[in-house]
Amino acid sequence: MTSLEKPIPIPTEADRPYWDALREHRVVLSRCTSCGWYSQRRRMLCPECLGEEFAWTQVSGRGTIYAFTAVHQTWVAAFAGDVPYVLVSVALEEQPSLVLVTNLVGEYDFDALDIDLPVVADFEPRGDQVLLQFRLRGDDDVQP
Ligand SMILES: [Zn+2]
Repeated sequence: MTSLEKPIPIPTEADRPYWDALREHRVVLSRCTSCGWYSQRRRMLCPECLGEEFAWTQVSGRGTIYAFTAVHQTWVAAFAGDVPYVLVSVALEEQPSLVLVTNLVGEYDFDALDIDLPVVADFEPRGDQVLLQFRLRGDDDVQP
C-alpha cells in the first residue's frame, strides 16, 4: 500500500457478516438474542444482560446526528484531497445509545449542520470492501 491509497478494512471471521452486508448496501449489527441490545462489533458478553448469544440483525440505517466535527488537517496523504471533511457520530434509530462514527458524505452546508438532524446510511466502495458512511436524510429517502 502506498501512502496515496486509503486503508481498506480486512474482515475477520468474527465480523465478516457486517462487511458482507455492507457490500449488499445493508447494515447489520450484532444483537443480543436475550434482550435485543445492539452492538457494532461481536462481543463476548452483552453489556445489558450478560447474555452470550448474538445474531447479526439488519437495522434501518437511519439515525440522527449526535455530534460532529470538521477535519481541516490530515497527516495521511491519501486523505489530503478530502479536507475539509466532517466526522459525524450517529445515534442509531433502533438504539440511540449506540453511536456510530463515520464520515458525513453527500451534499451539505457545514454551517447548517446541527445535532439531531436526520441521517441515513450511505455506502462507500473502497478496494474490495464497502465502508459504512452517513449522509443527511432527504425527503426522497423511503420510509418504511
Ligand atoms: Zn442482552
